[in-house]
Amino acid sequence: YLQRLMQSGIYLDETQMKAVRTTEGPLLVLAGAGSGKTRVLTARTAYMICERNIHPASIMLVTFTTKAAKEMKQRLLTYPEIRQNSISFLVTGTFHSIFYRMISHFQPERWQMNRLLKREWQREQLIKEAGRELGLDEREFAYDQALQQISYWKNTLLTPKDTEPQSQWEERVSYLYKRYEELKTERGQFDFDDMLLGCYELLLENPGLLARYQERFQYFLIDEFQDINKVQYEIMKMLSNHTKNLCVVGDDDQSIYAFRGSNPSFILEFDKEYPEAQIITLSENYRSSHTIVTTANKVISLNKQRRQKQMRAQFDNDHLPLFFFPYDEEEEATMVVEDIKERIRQGAEPRDFAILYRTHAASRAIFERLSQCGLPFIVEQDGESFYQRRIVRCLLAYLRLSLNPNNEEAMNDLLIALFLKQSALQELKAISIIEDCSLVKALAKLSNIQPFQQKKLRKMVPLFKTLAALKPIIALETIEKEMGFEEFMKKRGNEGNVMEKGSDDLRDLKVVAKKFKTISAFLSHVDEMIQATSEAKQFSKQQTNAIQLTTIHRAKGLEYKYVYILGAVDGCLPHDYALDTYRNGDELPLEEERRLMYVAMTRAKEALFISVPEMRRMKKAHASRFIKYLIE
Ligand code: ATP
Ligand code: MG
Repeated sequence: YLQRLMQSGIYLDETQMKAVRTTEGPLLVLAGAGSGKTRVLTARTAYMICERNIHPASIMLVTFTTKAAKEMKQRLLTYPEIRQNSISFLVTGTFHSIFYRMISHFQPERWQMNRLLKREWQREQLIKEAGRELGLDEREFAYDQALQQISYWKNTLLTPKDTEPQSQWEERVSYLYKRYEELKTERGQFDFDDMLLGCYELLLENPGLLARYQERFQYFLIDEFQDINKVQYEIMKMLSNHTKNLCVVGDDDQSIYAFRGSNPSFILEFDKEYPEAQIITLSENYRSSHTIVTTANKVISLNKQRRQKQMRAQFDNDHLPLFFFPYDEEEEATMVVEDIKERIRQGAEPRDFAILYRTHAASRAIFERLSQCGLPFIVEQDGESFYQRRIVRCLLAYLRLSLNPNNEEAMNDLLIALFLKQSALQELKAISIIEDCSLVKALAKLSNIQPFQQKKLRKMVPLFKTLAALKPIIALETIEKEMGFEEFMKKRGNEGNVMEKGSDDLRDLKVVAKKFKTISAFLSHVDEMIQATSEAKQFSKQQTNAIQLTTIHRAKGLEYKYVYILGAVDGCLPHDYALDTYRNGDELPLEEERRLMYVAMTRAKEALFISVPEMRRMKKAHASRFIKYLIE
């Protein structure tokens, strides 16, 4: 069969072939980026079905994203002798999707889809309820981070009792965790983490059922194994315990989901778990040019926590990895777009390009430039967009109200900035009708609030008139002073809140504001971009030949002819929070950031462009420590 594979153009080298042929027993393929690990998994699946006559229904093939699973199935269909029919039997998908299918089959009532807390705000609502019981202020407590922490605990199989809080923050979150779980159970709801935990418990508590699954599934294949977490691993170990035909492939240098509980020690210690395991390392890189491979290797070799690997490129070209030095994020966006345009003029396709960044916040400028230039592009977005962020909305609320003092939506956002209850909006509306004044003027007449707040509001109302006449950037600076921005962020923040990015948001907003002369021009640009964001989301679903705009995290496993990495400066990549923990003596987050840089670089096939802006968020920036020595 392998011969026939080669004849149809799907080459495998000797070592890859060995991995394909080793179908029995535990097998670890540990190899660097672009070495064909995913290809091995696909070929191995085809080989098992066609050559070994293994029934596809007894094969479980786990991928990191649903998209990857779909692509793998499509790829399989182009392999000789593979028919649609056999593919449809394969059990493939993400851990979540596969485990969910199992639990909902046995407890359909409990796991009905409409019970799922699908969106982040649904989880937030629930935890806020728990927080109110604790007397936590809704506007001050970082619930999003509390949820992340809870998720982490769940994925590492720690119940509320096991959490061992290290600080007052963790103590609170641990309590919230307990209440969150209780409230959720009372209402018969579940979240994504419960899909994994539910499966774990189901199998643990029903030996008969487990035995049936062990009977049914004979072969297990897992891609991106470096990002597996405890609960996922435990389930896979249980399921495969019967046959131990567990094949995992991964690269410890690409482990980038520690915040979700993934743990590279699982891949590094696979042979401790399975002493009989065969280990195969691949050392040819088939994806990237020689210069890209050597540069990426140079970068990652500075990590201490890793397994040394050999990596040889298969081809070279005359594109050296290129650093470029725009003045700021605006010029960065312009330079990237101009470069892409030129390459498309010379025959490249939009799908050949990917633009990668560390956080969504870093994508604002490039998004805006692409929206305006008419090239097709797709945004891989899971977070909220920049202008929808809470702090940004608060700041914009001042500006919106200065132009239209009756803008209800903006008033709603402003209430947050003023630490007033949402219910105050009803009162304001009533006042504005009775007293025949605007919502803004009604602020001065609010009762039911503390005297100091009343005084503050009365003083503030005239501000809106003043704002209207100012340039946007000056107006923002005025607002910053008026609301006591730093004080405000402090009130919202707390010690666990390392990721709070409020002041970054303000600076990002200023970067945009600087470009406009009037508030109304600035706001219409903002609204246009909010519109463009929702259109881009729609568009993403249909478009295939488009430039990819994505966080590095989401580009894992993928490859593009041309890759642009934005914001290669300290504070962005590596992220500020990793630099903070590094200063406090913890090196691990910084190593994970370096792995992110490695993942980003190794997505490129033909050419890699790394942008090192001089200024970031209106402040002088410094070249990322990960690449600095390559420039000098
Ligand atoms: P990552 O670590 O980024 O997930 P990977 O190890 O999974 O990378 P693949 O995506 O499987 O690597 O392969 C990288 C590229 O090299 C793909 O385009 C693949 O088709 C190609 N490739 C893999 N093996 C060979 C081979 N033996 N001959 C030619 N091309 C190959
Ligand atoms: Mg892969």
